[in-house]
Amino acid sequence: MRRRRIVQWLRYIAGAACCTYFVFLTARYIQTNRSQDDNSNEIHIFPDASVDINADHVSTDLGKKIDWHNYQFMSDESRRRGPGEQGSSVMTSGDEASKKDQLYKENGFNALASDKIALDRSVKDIRHTGCKTKLYYEHLPSVSVIVPFHNEHFSTLIRTATSVLNRSPEHLIKEIILVDDFSSKEALKDSLDAYLQEHLPKVRVVRAPKREGLIRARLLGAKAATGAVLIFLDSHSEANTNWLPPLLEPIAEDYRTATCPFIDIIDYETFEYRAQDEGARGAFDWELYYKRLPLLPEDLKNPTEPFKSPVMAGGLFAISRKFFWELGGYDEGLDVWGGEQYELSFKIWQCGGKLVDTPCSRVGHIYRKFAPFSNPGVGDFVGRNYRRVAEVWMDEYAEFVYKKRPHYKHIDAGDLSKQRALRENLKCKSFKWFMTEVAFDQMERYPPIEPPDFAWGEIRNVGGNLCIDTRFKSQNDRFNLEPCIKDNADNGGEQSFVLTWHKDIRPRGRAVCFDVSSSDNKTPVILYNCHNMQGNQQWKYNSDTKSLFHPVSSKCLDCDTERKEIFVNECDRSKLSQQWLFENYNVTLLLKL
Ligand code: UDP
Ligand code: MN
Repeated sequence: MRRRRIVQWLRYIAGAACCTYFVFLTARYIQTNRSQDDNSNEIHIFPDASVDINADHVSTDLGKKIDWHNYQFMSDESRRRGPGEQGSSVMTSGDEASKKDQLYKENGFNALASDKIALDRSVKDIRHTGCKTKLYYEHLPSVSVIVPFHNEHFSTLIRTATSVLNRSPEHLIKEIILVDDFSSKEALKDSLDAYLQEHLPKVRVVRAPKREGLIRARLLGAKAATGAVLIFLDSHSEANTNWLPPLLEPIAEDYRTATCPFIDIIDYETFEYRAQDEGARGAFDWELYYKRLPLLPEDLKNPTEPFKSPVMAGGLFAISRKFFWELGGYDEGLDVWGGEQYELSFKIWQCGGKLVDTPCSRVGHIYRKFAPFSNPGVGDFVGRNYRRVAEVWMDEYAEFVYKKRPHYKHIDAGDLSKQRALRENLKCKSFKWFMTEVAFDQMERYPPIEPPDFAWGEIRNVGGNLCIDTRFKSQNDRFNLEPCIKDNADNGGEQSFVLTWHKDIRPRGRAVCFDVSSSDNKTPVILYNCHNMQGNQQWKYNSDTKSLFHPVSSKCLDCDTERKEIFVNECDRSKLSQQWLFENYNVTLLLKL
């Protein structure tokens, strides 16, 4: 399995310098090009004078540090066997195909697999071993868990709540609030209430009288919450072993600190529970896609300690109720989905708080295969949300966003006076401060204007006079040498490549990269989604020796001209099979590679 290879590979390069990180994040919703219409659907219900932000505040006496593990429960869980137990994968059989397809369409994941798994299934404890002996303060704040849902599948919704209740110290969970964002599925109405009453009495449902979108749904939940800390989860999550104390301790120490768990992957097809990586700092590019920045040397030295992160991924985080409302909650003008993770992260940092990721707290999340929801008729809501956030918080940096997406400038963002007044009243710092002090390496890694490429065009092997040809293959595929298209027009090949400023090689116009995941001789080169983090996708071209060097493995690109195979091998300048002619290159830039 690819991700297992990645984990091995990560181990292999763990000692290497700064750039050895990988990003495997599924984009959140795919942006649509739907046209804007003027049904902007403003509501003004938050914040509200009825919210007592000081009630049940974080205690100041934290007591001594204790071991919070529930060993009896952990031992019982470790003995469980059955479909999906221990976070294993579940296969659905061929004769269930039509049911499976229907549920896929409704959910964007294989909900049939979910139905085969116990609602209280066990998951693998994949925490860093150092987490298993860590102690946390004995007086931690009480929690309201808030889970917005719109037409969530019943079993994944219930599993979310069940995992929270089973894997948390009972006295810390004050309540779980499921916020029904105007779902239409029958199973989410009276029968949900009845199920909760019978099986999960700490869980209640707050229902929105009309479709609000996830941001206002979270606000509805937050408004109803009474715990000292608000924890937001998506409705298809599973909390892992002892997830709560590490998330709460930084907040108990300073109520202006917000925390995020590591987000693991629950596979959308099989429900296998696995890690996505071992941590990275959150960031964004100038199209406002969520991106990642490498951990800092001090973070790497303390793999079980919280580390600062510029922005949260979005759906899974904890914040004290007091600080959340001091920040005005979310901008209630944000519609449906998107942008709220930036709004809250910028506010947290710019208005006197801090945001950390806590490696010992892990929560699984189903990254959907596709978004199943229809547009609720409010036009380009993502663009509108981004414009609101950019206008209020990003100062002169908003221009970088507009350069990438000029049409945002023409979207009517609605009334921003309340957000601007909040920024003014809280005397929040500038976006420049955020970019300089918090996301200080983002400009370099995700520059608003892409630097020039190192080399481009065909890559011809000197030995065989053949060209690398990826033939429009996709992720995980190998590729070979073929007769060069220039010498043989119309052979259906893909032979135009770019050695980009990220130092990776990709077929022109595509985001898959030449990827090598072992340092063994003759390891084949495959295509894999570009992670922009160099590491195992970094290449160095020398136009004198004509070598294509792969620094992480210390190997060179080589080939078998008879079998037409491409792989990495011990570097040997004398071998013609290791000499490559890049059709065009920028000599000055190559010298800096
Ligand atoms: N959600 C909602 N209303 C909406 C869209 C989403 O309540 O209009 C809920 C959804 O059920 C989920 C959370 O908000 O619990 C985040 O949405 P989703 O999982 O689709 O986002 P993603 O994880 O793909 O970013
Ligand atoms: Mn989700």
